[in-house]
Amino acid sequence: MQNSPSPEELHAFDREHFLHPWHDMNAWRGYDNMLVEAAQGIYLYDETGRKFIDGPGGMWCVQIGYGQAEMAEAIAAQVLKMPYASPFTNVTQPGAILAKKLADFAPGDLNNVFFTTGGSTAVDTALRAMQFMNNSLGRPEKKMILAREKGYHGSTYLAASVSGKERDVTKFDMESRLVHFLPNVNPYLRPDEMSVAQWCDAKVQDLEEAIAQLGAENIGAFIAEPILSSGGVIVPPEGYHKRTFDICRAHDILYISDEVVTGFGRLGHWFSSQAVFDIEPDIITCAKGLTSGYLPLGACIISDRMMERMTHRGEVLFSNGYTYSGHPVSCAAALKNIEILERDNVLAHVRDIAPYFQERLARLTRYPIIGDARGAGLIGCIEARLSKDGSRLEDERKIGAMIDQACHDRGLIVRPLINMCVFSPPLVISRTQVNDLFDILGQAIETVCEKFD
Ligand code: PLP
Repeated sequence: MQNSPSPEELHAFDREHFLHPWHDMNAWRGYDNMLVEAAQGIYLYDETGRKFIDGPGGMWCVQIGYGQAEMAEAIAAQVLKMPYASPFTNVTQPGAILAKKLADFAPGDLNNVFFTTGGSTAVDTALRAMQFMNNSLGRPEKKMILAREKGYHGSTYLAASVSGKERDVTKFDMESRLVHFLPNVNPYLRPDEMSVAQWCDAKVQDLEEAIAQLGAENIGAFIAEPILSSGGVIVPPEGYHKRTFDICRAHDILYISDEVVTGFGRLGHWFSSQAVFDIEPDIITCAKGLTSGYLPLGACIISDRMMERMTHRGEVLFSNGYTYSGHPVSCAAALKNIEILERDNVLAHVRDIAPYFQERLARLTRYPIIGDARGAGLIGCIEARLSKDGSRLEDERKIGAMIDQACHDRGLIVRPLINMCVFSPPLVISRTQVNDLFDILGQAIETVCEKFD
């Protein structure tokens, strides 16, 4: 029997052959990345058995934590019973039951579920559905998409085109003629003399001005994450969602709420659009927490109102589909994940513990290098700021990586983003573990502060 490769060999295979998402591979190849060998609860273990709190919860996705044996059993049972059936021609038990569940969880008349392979393909599906609808309605010019700076919606061509992070829009060719970006909504960036309420007015006005400039007759959709997560956990000012939603409705612009991160309990509810932000979008996209990351799956949930308008000469023909739409094994994993979230009252636990998590997070601004600590539910971000006058210093750009390293040395993983670190731990995190996470983070920041004295 062949011996398993050693950790050194695995690192070499990886360095030489594995292209990692969103990485400068030259930098990756020069850096000693962690080899994850095992995972249990909220912890990851490296090849030496060293334990780390998984601050990012995988990639904002491992809601129920690692090592849930029931998930393995449900997945294995579905593989043995029927691992695949074409979604183009068949009904399956896990697919049908999951579609019904999602329709029940989604607000209002969002009753029509198109399964995808993840978040990017869910967003692509949503945008293509908008295009299809407007073509069907005989208004092919109504196709532009309003998106926001710092938004992230995925890495397929159309989803990347509506993502407003600098690296997305400057390094690739995008469908830029279809997309208009609204300026950053981050309240932290408002001028000193401006209140949050005035900032909200200004951000709503950005939307109104864009509509006036482009013409509502040319705009098909507004796409927005309830909280801009990968862009640095930007929580728009209170009232922003409802006001922008009402404006879109008034102009017959579809509102697409991208809940790939905020869905499945991250903010204490199945979906946050209505429960937290009081809006009933035309489309919700979701992925990640839908299966807690145990298997890939996404969904684009479309309202009845929109489906009625997608009819072309009496037929709803929507040429969009994936070999793995509604994959039975992924759907079985999602159903078991939902069963665990329901049975263990995980959403109520999030609603219960989130205020304490946010309180501990807010306390981090006591460190001189931390300009802002913000979040919602079980999502957090710290943003470093060194200058007193608000201008960016070159050193600031390294702080995320420095805090990340100091956390790693103490047994905590965070996700560095230039001058920020973000985290979104598994939802099953206990109060003691929340204390562990923030104690380590505080110590790590203190060490980095010393370097800037
Ligand atoms: N939408 C949002 C809000 C996301 O955060 C992400 C990924 O982080 C995506 C879409 C893309 O999802 P995926 O990576 O599953 O394609």
